[in-house]
Amino acid sequence: MDFNLSKEEILIQKMARDYAEQAILPVADQIEKDNRVPDDIMAGLAELDLFGMTVPEEFGGAGAGYVPYVLAMEQIARVSSGPAMIISAHNLGLGALVNFGTDEQKAKFVPQAAKGEHIASFAFTEPGTGSDPKQLTTSAVRGGDHFVLNGTKRFITNASYKGPLVLFAIEAESGQPTAFVVEKHCPGYSVSKPWSKLGWHGGDLVDIYLKDVQVPVENVLGKIGDGYPILQYGIAFGKIGMNSVALGTTLAAFELAVKYAKEKTHRGQPIAKFQAIQMKVAEIAGIYESSRWLAYRLGFLANNTKNYREFAKEAALAKWVIARNAQEATRISMDVHGSYGLMEDYEITRIYRDAAMGPQVEGVIHMQQVILAGDILR
Ligand SMILES: Cc1cc2nc3c(=O)[nH]c(=O)nc-3n(C[C@H](O)[C@H](O)[C@H](O)COP(=O)(O)OP(=O)(O)OC[C@H]3O[C@@H](n4cnc5c(N)ncnc54)[C@H](O)[C@@H]3O)c2cc1C
Repeated sequence: MDFNLSKEEILIQKMARDYAEQAILPVADQIEKDNRVPDDIMAGLAELDLFGMTVPEEFGGAGAGYVPYVLAMEQIARVSSGPAMIISAHNLGLGALVNFGTDEQKAKFVPQAAKGEHIASFAFTEPGTGSDPKQLTTSAVRGGDHFVLNGTKRFITNASYKGPLVLFAIEAESGQPTAFVVEKHCPGYSVSKPWSKLGWHGGDLVDIYLKDVQVPVENVLGKIGDGYPILQYGIAFGKIGMNSVALGTTLAAFELAVKYAKEKTHRGQPIAKFQAIQMKVAEIAGIYESSRWLAYRLGFLANNTKNYREFAKEAALAKWVIARNAQEATRISMDVHGSYGLMEDYEITRIYRDAAMGPQVEGVIHMQQVILAGDILR
């Protein structure tokens, strides 16, 4: 068992941290207010290879694997969750394409996305369902050499950006969920205005409206009627990104608590001298370490597993623990800040709002516990 990071991993972690501090931090407030990540930041993230870090080199990616991805994402999310949310959802869509796409599909859709010129999405959720694939209503009806798609997809990340979208619909003949690669902004494709979210500002979140969207037959991802494995794979691997976002939030909560404890004084002494404050800081430190090793380990497993069922169980465990840890860490950090922690001028309020997001996205916490318990008790 080797817990040391390689030289390359340390370098990528440092590059991401430096970029986050030098380029993202100065515009973090702007991202919060505008709910949009500036184009030059998107370009900078692309230069860091964050849009193609896990994509094999043969498809234009960096081929660095999932551990450097987790390390870099943690550092980006520590400063601003919006850009990290965009990268996470992008990798979710792209990962499904790389893993299940034909050579032609990969050649057509992956290289530009791996370079960040196109941004990928993954669309499962609908107004009627976010957790249950049996309740999908978006329809796909064959018409010659194409399928016609109709329906509404809710809360889809990156759907405003140009690029490939892995979308799940019920194929009429089989009556089963099927995955399609849709080119965003094709005829019949439109989106709502962005949702105003509690946290993760800057992350693009809209509904998609599909009105007689024609998708060529060759854009079926995997087999017709066989969308479940793609969905399960995507949701499991997507949790690596979501966990990294929550981990970055937890790290920020820890660092802010330490900083404030050293800066705020009572009778000329920093509040860090109070044992109650020391205990809170120690508690967040422990929470962060438990999240960190679970998140890094999941990245390691993603690089090395071929047993997707086993991986899905590990991802479910890591997801609910890390998401809940982020909430707990920010709550304690807020306590350390006293009343100042309730003021929007203080960064901890953003972190607190960001931490509320993780438990509900990409598999609600309860579903992760159901998946995990189902495996343990089978
Ligand atoms: C910022 C953000 C980004 C998102 N990005 C995407 C995206 O890119 N693509 C996409 O497809 N979706 C996306 N979503 C949607 C998100 O993944 C779903 O909203 C989420 O899965 C929850 O679905 P729901 O809101 O319908 O909750 P529901 O499924 O209705 O759940 C409501 C409550 O019931 C509980 N519950 C539901 N079923 C069970 C069960 N069987 N057992 C026990 N408890 C249960 C849940 O835990 C929860 O507490 C995004 C959402 C957000 C907020």
